[in-house]
Amino acid sequence: MPFAAAQIGLGFRNEIAPRNGLLRVREFTMAEIEHFVHPQRKQHPKFRWVRDKELVLFPADAQLGTGRTVVMTVGQAVEAGVVNNETLAYFMARTQLFLEAIGVDPKRMRFRQHLRTEMSHYAADCWDMEIQSSYGWVECVGHADRSCYDLTQHAAKTGVALVASERLAQPIQVERVVAEANKKLLGPAFKTQQKAVLAAIEALDESQVLALRDALAASGRAVVGDGFELTAEMVAFKSEKKTVVEQKYTPSVIEPSFGIGRILYSLLEHAFSQRSADEQRCVMAFRPRVAPIKVGLFRLVNHAPFDVVVEELRQSLALADVAVRVDSSSGSVGRRYARADELGIPFGVTVDFQTLVDQSVTLRERDSMAQVRLPLSALLPTLTALVTERVTWETVSKRFMVVKVSEADDDEDSAAASAGASANAGANAAADNAATTLEVTPRAAFSRPAPTSTR
Ligand code: AMP
Repeated sequence: MPFAAAQIGLGFRNEIAPRNGLLRVREFTMAEIEHFVHPQRKQHPKFRWVRDKELVLFPADAQLGTGRTVVMTVGQAVEAGVVNNETLAYFMARTQLFLEAIGVDPKRMRFRQHLRTEMSHYAADCWDMEIQSSYGWVECVGHADRSCYDLTQHAAKTGVALVASERLAQPIQVERVVAEANKKLLGPAFKTQQKAVLAAIEALDESQVLALRDALAASGRAVVGDGFELTAEMVAFKSEKKTVVEQKYTPSVIEPSFGIGRILYSLLEHAFSQRSADEQRCVMAFRPRVAPIKVGLFRLVNHAPFDVVVEELRQSLALADVAVRVDSSSGSVGRRYARADELGIPFGVTVDFQTLVDQSVTLRERDSMAQVRLPLSALLPTLTALVTERVTWETVSKRFMVVKVSEADDDEDSAAASAGASANAGANAAADNAATTLEVTPRAAFSRPAPTSTR
């Protein structure tokens, strides 16, 4: 102990009224961690790594009182008893960090504590990570300390005692009351369930044995496990002295459970925006780490020599496991940038006339639309560092020459003319028209030249 298991799969809820798209469905992808701990020792060995992380908390008393959230560090929340224990708080912090890392807006996240009335009777504490979207505040990740409930229920139903055992540093002498089942009476009374009743009696800790003894002495009847009613004759109690070398206990379980559909939906909504200058231009601001396509590759204009460079770049990025999309469709490069923005592609590389002269390309960052010019030799290491978020755009833009580029909706010909090469581009137009069309989407056709036409 502690012992943990994590799994991802389908969860099911018998929702009476499924609604709100992905938010309330009957079958959904769920990821869960079941983290078992000693019931009296819920400290977490990695707690110090998250102690100073600030969380927005909406405790039960605030929901019934001020109606305001409070910002506390994870350490303060545990010290003040707002969050029940370190392990629960540790997972809350990790959920916050995870959601921030994938791009959920921290200003639209909060942890709401379950009110006593909504918390299951057995739970020690529960906090939902709620994310705000156009549907309001929606529970996306549950964090529950479910105490020993699940294990005791399984033990009662299956007749298998699910307990952990811990070797004591020093053996100790103890005198304690133990319950001994009278199997001759249990058999006829419980028939096929006899095994489950025996396990329920065996799973009782000392305080529960004493409570059973008192209840049987008072009324002659008492219930153990999953509703098994015992009479006084069925159990004998005796005091015994023992040398104890191990302690058995039913672990508590702390369970973070992630609704993947809800998280993805929130992420998509938070990533979406429209450019202030033009609301037709939509942007999905996926963080580089989660963007499905990391790099867009463009040629400034339809010019065959550019395609050679584009193809070489595509291959080297693909070999480095960087997901790339080549957009060689016609229309201005500004329009192609806009299309890449809609797909959430964080970086764009454009091959232009200067590339043929000095082996440099421009690199564009989606959110700022800023561009730098850098040598082809520096492109791959720069991009792999950017897409894995090992380096920020700020650092890159300090390292290379920032270039001013208009993204006005000019067409290819004027872009070519401004670069003084319209004749060249025109000469290659025919070759490009013969390009093989690889993809046709509702928005546009994306084409790439057939391999022979590029060389
Ligand atoms: P629960 O164990 O009921 O707290 O659910 C765990 C997580 O699954 C919740 O935090 C939600 O993110 C998600 N979830 C619960 N019910 C649904 C549902 N009907 N549709 C989609 N996601 C759900």
